Amino acid sequence: MSDEKTIDGPEPWQWPETTWRGIVDRVRAGRSLRPPQWKDGAQVAVALSFDSDHESGTLREGETSPGKLSQGQYGNRQGVPRILALLAKHGVPASFFVPAVIAQLYPDEQRRVVGEGHEVALHGWIHERNSVLPEVAERDLAHRAADSLERITGRRPVGMRTPSWDMSAHTITIARELGLLYDSSLMADDDPYEIVEDGRPTGLVELPVEWIKDDAVYFNMNRYSALRPYTAPSAVLEIFTAEFDGALAEGGLFLLTMHPHIIGHRSRLAMLDRLITHIRGHAGVWFATHEEIARYVKTAAKI
Ligand SMILES: [Zn+2]
Repeated sequence: MSDEKTIDGPEPWQWPETTWRGIVDRVRAGRSLRPPQWKDGAQVAVALSFDSDHESGTLREGETSPGKLSQGQYGNRQGVPRILALLAKHGVPASFFVPAVIAQLYPDEQRRVVGEGHEVALHGWIHERNSVLPEVAERDLAHRAADSLERITGRRPVGMRTPSWDMSAHTITIARELGLLYDSSLMADDDPYEIVEDGRPTGLVELPVEWIKDDAVYFNMNRYSALRPYTAPSAVLEIFTAEFDGALAEGGLFLLTMHPHIIGHRSRLAMLDRLITHIRGHAGVWFATHEEIARYVKTAAKI
C-alpha cells in the first residue's frame, strides 16, 4: 500500500498550473523562526525527542505476532527506563511523542516521563497511516488521542508528531483546530519556521525533522530482505555529531528523533551518551523540550 495520497484525473504531466501550484501551496514553509540568539544567549538549541512507538508499529499493520510485539514492549521495559536514566545523568530534558494506544498500555511510563520534567506530546492514535485516512476519521482520532494523553498525564498536549511523518491535506487544519502550538513532522528546513496553509501564515510553529537525524533509518532491519542494514553506532555518532556541529556553527536547531525500542539497546545508548557528552562539552548550548523551543521562537518572532 502506498503511503502517498494521489489525486484522480489527468496525469501530473497534464496538470494545469492551478493544480500543481495548489497542491504545493496547501502546506508550505513560511518565514524562518530561527531567533537571533537562543535562550540566555545560547548559540544552539538542542531538542532530543523519543517516539515511544513500542507495539504500535506492529498493531497498526493489523499484525498480532507476539514475537514482533515483544520487540515493541522492549521499548517500555528497557528503552524508556534507560533513556530516562541517561537524561537524568546529564540533566537534560526531552520530548516523548506517544501514540494514544501506547499511553493507555503504559500510563505509568507516561506519568514518570512527565514527572521527571519531560514533555509528552501527540503521535497519533495507534500510529495509523493518517495520510490515507478519511478526513472525519483522522479528525476523530486526533481529538481522542489528545483527550487520552491529557487524561493520563494530567496535561493537554501542545504539540504533535504525525506517525511516520505522514500528512494528509487536512492534518495541519486539524492541528490548528486542536489549538496546537507546534508540529514536528515536516522537513523544509533545519531550523524552526512558521507553517503557511493555502498561502496564509498560521502561527503554527514547525520544528523540522529529517530521516538523517533519525535512529530508525540506521538501526532498523528487515530480516526477510537481502539487505539487512545495521549501521555501526560509531558511524551514526559521526553523522549526528556533524549535524550538531553544523547547527552550532550556524546558530540553529539540532533536533534528533529516536525510538526507545531502537536506541534503547546497550550499544546504541552508549553512543547517545557519547553524543550528549560531546554536545555538553560546548558552551552556549540550550537543551530544551520541543514545547519550550516552540514557545521561545514564537515569542522572539512576536507571533
Ligand atoms: Zn512513530
